[in-house]
Amino acid sequence: MKISGWGRFPYIESEGFYFETRNQLLDSFRKQQECIVYARGRSYGDSALNRHVICTDRFDKILAFDAAEGIVTCESGVTLAEIIEAFLPRGWFLSVTPGTRLISIGGAIASDVHGKNHHKAGCFSTCVVSFNLMLPDGDIVRCSSKENPELFHATCGGMGLTGIILEAAIRLQPVKSAYIREKVIRCKNLEDVIQRFEDNFDTAYSVAWIDCLAKGDEQGRSVLMLGEHADSGRLSPPVEKTLSVPFTSPAIFLNKFSVSLFNHFYYSRQPVFTDGRLTPIHTFFYPLDKIGHWNRMYGSNGFTQYQLVLPKEAGKEGLSVMLDKISNAGLGSFLAVLKLFGAANSNYLSFPMEGYTLALDFKIQKKLFPLLDELDKIVLSHGGRVYLTKDVRMSTEVFRSGYPQRHVGHLYR
Ligand SMILES: Cc1cc2nc3c(=O)[nH]c(=O)nc-3n(C[C@H](O)[C@H](O)[C@H](O)COP(=O)(O)OP(=O)(O)OC[C@H]3O[C@@H](n4cnc5c(N)ncnc54)[C@H](O)[C@@H]3O)c2cc1C
Repeated sequence: MKISGWGRFPYIESEGFYFETRNQLLDSFRKQQECIVYARGRSYGDSALNRHVICTDRFDKILAFDAAEGIVTCESGVTLAEIIEAFLPRGWFLSVTPGTRLISIGGAIASDVHGKNHHKAGCFSTCVVSFNLMLPDGDIVRCSSKENPELFHATCGGMGLTGIILEAAIRLQPVKSAYIREKVIRCKNLEDVIQRFEDNFDTAYSVAWIDCLAKGDEQGRSVLMLGEHADSGRLSPPVEKTLSVPFTSPAIFLNKFSVSLFNHFYYSRQPVFTDGRLTPIHTFFYPLDKIGHWNRMYGSNGFTQYQLVLPKEAGKEGLSVMLDKISNAGLGSFLAVLKLFGAANSNYLSFPMEGYTLALDFKIQKKLFPLLDELDKIVLSHGGRVYLTKDVRMSTEVFRSGYPQRHVGHLYR
């Protein structure tokens, strides 16, 4: 079979092994010389690609729920969507969730994903109580921050390199409603949006859509979305209408002019300020899940997402240099997102560090990789790093400089 990450670049020929029980896995795992887990393939780049892959989508049972503590135990192929569907009507929601619910628990742990509340709640690993990990020799060990802590810290964010995550216990947060009380603020430039993030630090969720092509006084103009769980309303979200991109669109329609035009209309359409509107949880957290196969929009060559984080000290200056480069190259995209991160955790390869993270989609084209090399230099010179789960072309040097913790322990030399 041919597989790719969400960016549809690269595609590789691969042999997949599906399993439903530990024993089936053990049989196959011992025979495989080299393999990696391919779960829901929502990581954009090549992290889950190999000639032999272990597919977890049939290893997908919810095993137990402790209703007093809000702890769900499940197999690693269960998706966030399945957890939400089962537990939101009972008043429980994920404590940390990325911008799609169509990923597996194993993928959430392996990338140590973050959401719009990183500044308050940290990464996904903060709600991982424990998991069982199958090591390359077939041994199964239980890991938590207290039990085999080194393996726990290497596996959360470790991109599947330490073994196969089997069952995991995840702590959910109690909620009273399937709605978010949302505030939207239009920000006139980068300085304005950074100031608003800081002013709203105590708000649970914050994220900004940013116009990556705007220049001059308007550089970094954004729409900041803030949210808190509503304390009233139904616990079942309204049924969502979904659309699907039926075929791969010609990438020619995505260019500097169409993106600029879209950005102009999107920005202008937003109210200058809205406070307190009730937004369904799915609309607030997962707007892109409404559009099936939206990754086909970038054409047959596919696309990549470049996500970087710059420490707070780099501040507006660092982000401004990045945005200058991107807008001068004219290669930006509709999807450019800015988020505020809180402190880094002690996992060796987790991406977040205290500062600002910018994520941008780019269609694959000849001029792109030299631009990304330039962006890497800016990121490193400001003490930042690039997110592994989105990456498809990072050099060893960029990895080494961005992730100094990789030397901790004996697992990553
Ligand atoms: C629309 C969209 C929005 C997103 N938003 C965010 C966001 O806001 N924040 C964020 O952090 N990420 C975000 N992501 C990225 C996504 O959350 C991660 O890439 C996630 O890891 C994908 O999970 P998956 O189940 O699809 O795993 P895959 O993509 O299949 O695999 C990802 C990695 O996890 C490893 N892995 C998966 N399962 C296991 C297992 N059982 N044992 C060991 N290793 C395993 C794989 O080997 C691979 O290295 C987004 C992705 C999309 C498409």
